[in-house]
Amino acid sequence: MENVSILGATGSIGTSTLDVISLHPERFKVFAVSGFSQLERLREIALQFSPRYIVVANESDAAGLKSKLPSVLPCEILFGKQALVDIAKDSEVDTVMSAIVGAAGLLPTLAAVRASKKVLLANKESLVMSGELFMRAVSEHKATLIPIDSEHNAIFQCLPENYRYADAQGSGISHLLLTASGGPFRELMPQALEDVTPEQACAHPNWDMGRKISVDSASMMNKGLEFIEAKWLFGLDETRIKVLIHPQSTIHSMVQYKDGSVIAQMGNPDMRTPIAHALSYPTRIESGVAPLDFFEQQDFSFQAPEQARFPNLFLAMEASRLGQSATTALNAANESAVAAFLRKQIKFTDIFSVNQHVVESCNHESLNSIDDILEHDSQCREQALQYISTLRH
Ligand code: NDP
Ligand code: MG
Repeated sequence: MENVSILGATGSIGTSTLDVISLHPERFKVFAVSGFSQLERLREIALQFSPRYIVVANESDAAGLKSKLPSVLPCEILFGKQALVDIAKDSEVDTVMSAIVGAAGLLPTLAAVRASKKVLLANKESLVMSGELFMRAVSEHKATLIPIDSEHNAIFQCLPENYRYADAQGSGISHLLLTASGGPFRELMPQALEDVTPEQACAHPNWDMGRKISVDSASMMNKGLEFIEAKWLFGLDETRIKVLIHPQSTIHSMVQYKDGSVIAQMGNPDMRTPIAHALSYPTRIESGVAPLDFFEQQDFSFQAPEQARFPNLFLAMEASRLGQSATTALNAANESAVAAFLRKQIKFTDIFSVNQHVVESCNHESLNSIDDILEHDSQCREQALQYISTLRH
């Protein structure tokens, strides 16, 4: 029996993880879960999975949830940031699903890495913020890191079994081909992007996801973050990573080899596939996802992303070349800008202005510790908020 802690169990990835686990009660036990604002959802999870620990944001939420659970339920309710770290590194935990959204996921994910756990990484923001330090910790603590992001999970599946980190030459890799759906605004005239609403941005054509990543997909910042994520996960430099728009989201990404072969991973766009793959790697288990029907899904088309329509993607690639302080700044700016857009404080197109302003004006000093990164992150958030206050409509 494997004990699993799910950070962000109430979210979209958390829910898909619980769905897959519920198909395999003989193999996985939900040891701990965390949520943030959805206490009712946590109550349902507690009743269905009976985890040992539940983590909520603060003491009053903990008391509120406790009062709604049957007293016979053998679960302890904890609260706060340290409790997230504790359920990630608990000695009884085998596997940690890192599915908190944004920078809040960094410290608990890193705690799981430092405790040498099997870490299933959905929280791409932690790699964007701290890729170099994060990957060094993975190697030093011999943690097992398996990507959940569908593109990176696809690449992981397409790499040679014995892939050596950062060894493109020895593995015969020419390029990683990251596919992108292009989101809901792929065909909109760039001028029309000014007036799109949060509801339109969150209506992704192929994937059902949380609101922050849905907006990131619409702006293609998501692909920019994934570009940086791929660089760190596989240890390859920017010249080896290409982005292509594939509107059907059937090919989840590919690896192109120097002999001309291209290996792709395909499937219906449903996160339960990469989650099931990662949970049971290297074996395969049922995920509950319907098999891909090639007679229904015949179109495989591809386009290059245009800079005028998707400037955030190109900004992220540039930040990746600039280094860690630029990608930390970009992530901080983007989280602030997306939150402001979702609150209807700024326009969709302002997200890029905020991101560009912060990346260009932040200090590009080297960040040598997680404390440096967190300090830089909070300075960049302040800068972003100041700039946003000049933009309010
Ligand atoms: P959701 O918004 O659906 O879920 C986010 C989770 O994080 C929820 O459990 C939420 O709790 C919790 N949370 C939010 N803020 C905080 C905080 N400050 N402290 C602690 N917990 C917090 O997001 P997704 O599931 O869509 O995405 C999660 C991560 O996975 C993101 O990093 C995303 O980029 C990545 N990802 C998601 C994919 C998807 O298909 N959804 C695909 C690939 C990657 P609550 O809901 O209770 O408030
Ligand atoms: Mg993805």
